[in-house]
Amino acid sequence: MASAAPFDPAALRQDFPILQQSVNGAPLVYLDNAATTQKPEVVIQAIANYYRRDNANVHRGAHTLSDRATVAFEAARETVARFINSPRSNQVIWTRGATEAINLVAYSWGHTHLRAGDRILVSYLEHHSNIVPWQLAAAATGAEVVPIPITEAGDIDLQALTGLLDERVKLVAVNHVSNALGTINPVAEISRLAHAAGAKVLVDGAQAIAHMPVDVQSIGCDFYVFSGHKLFGPTGMGVLWGQEALLDTMPPFLGGGEMIETVSFSGSTWNALPFKFEAGTPNIAGAIGMAAAIDYLAGIDIAAAAAHECSLLQQSIDLAGDIDGLRRIGNPAQTVGIFSFVLEGVHPSDLGMLLDEQGIAVRTGHHCTQPLMAHYQVPGTVRASYSLYNTADDVERLFAGIHKAKRLFG
Ligand code: PLP
Repeated sequence: MASAAPFDPAALRQDFPILQQSVNGAPLVYLDNAATTQKPEVVIQAIANYYRRDNANVHRGAHTLSDRATVAFEAARETVARFINSPRSNQVIWTRGATEAINLVAYSWGHTHLRAGDRILVSYLEHHSNIVPWQLAAAATGAEVVPIPITEAGDIDLQALTGLLDERVKLVAVNHVSNALGTINPVAEISRLAHAAGAKVLVDGAQAIAHMPVDVQSIGCDFYVFSGHKLFGPTGMGVLWGQEALLDTMPPFLGGGEMIETVSFSGSTWNALPFKFEAGTPNIAGAIGMAAAIDYLAGIDIAAAAAHECSLLQQSIDLAGDIDGLRRIGNPAQTVGIFSFVLEGVHPSDLGMLLDEQGIAVRTGHHCTQPLMAHYQVPGTVRASYSLYNTADDVERLFAGIHKAKRLFG
């Protein structure tokens, strides 16, 4: 792996072809990185080269191309395993994304381990994809989904969590980083508390994976999930990581090719991990693209990138101080570079449209966190989510756009 070069966002920007364009007559300012990140040329090339040279189905090694595809596909799994410090690569299960990974656990583990009266704790900070699968599992088993309160600043209330942890709780499901507020949750501490109460822990790492080193062993959770597209990799590709002993006890989620050992009309038996959970032809190019993204990140000082993103957040907070009626939502103790706000008298979607007309891409709305929006009593927010290729100029452009909106709507 390459060693990290001095951190230089303006230079990194050059690695991303999509950022070199104008949108609506102005150079693109892309501030929607929590929704999806852009892809560096090396990732685009890795996917294109796979289709140009090696495309074949995997694990059916009757010919050279199939061998090459299989080697690259399984090497990608090893790359992910090293990236998150998994003890073994068979604990890395490919999914379509974080959402499918959570659904896999909710169905496979949830339907077999939850009973009437059991509780699943999920925080107010959760994305719908870490709420709804648990509601479905609860409806099927008689268990109950119970929200973990948060503080006004947007941090999980650890005291309240401790108070909720009793023998009824079978699972605690929390995100590592909130997509709406940027809160970095103390997931190692939460895992410790939950385990002491006999509950399993699922950490949704969708927003953490691009902003900090993730070490599943030091977090100590039972499941960790994320999506490749938030990590500079392709869409349609994600990971479920799980404790091996737990994954071994879980029944398959989807049935089909690849996940079986034997099939007969008197019954079928299941393949070993990770294949038991990977029915059908997988997203081979997606795995290769995700590994290329991880290799790309290996050349970047991630701590410096995170500090840079937080400096853009601080710049946003400072510039927001000059704007009457602009209210930041949340003020978490530990945060990534996400700035979520409302502007009095301007609907978030109107502001988003006006910014788009100036080539500035932000996300507006509830961010798939309706319970959180209800908690703050706002219909939605405008969210600028910063990545390693954003610059102080991008933030200046955002605030010039907000000032323009104020003039137009004011
Ligand atoms: N969890 C969080 C915190 C997210 O921000 C997202 C996507 O925005 C998801 C889960 C779902 O990810 P995906 O749509 O890639 O499955």
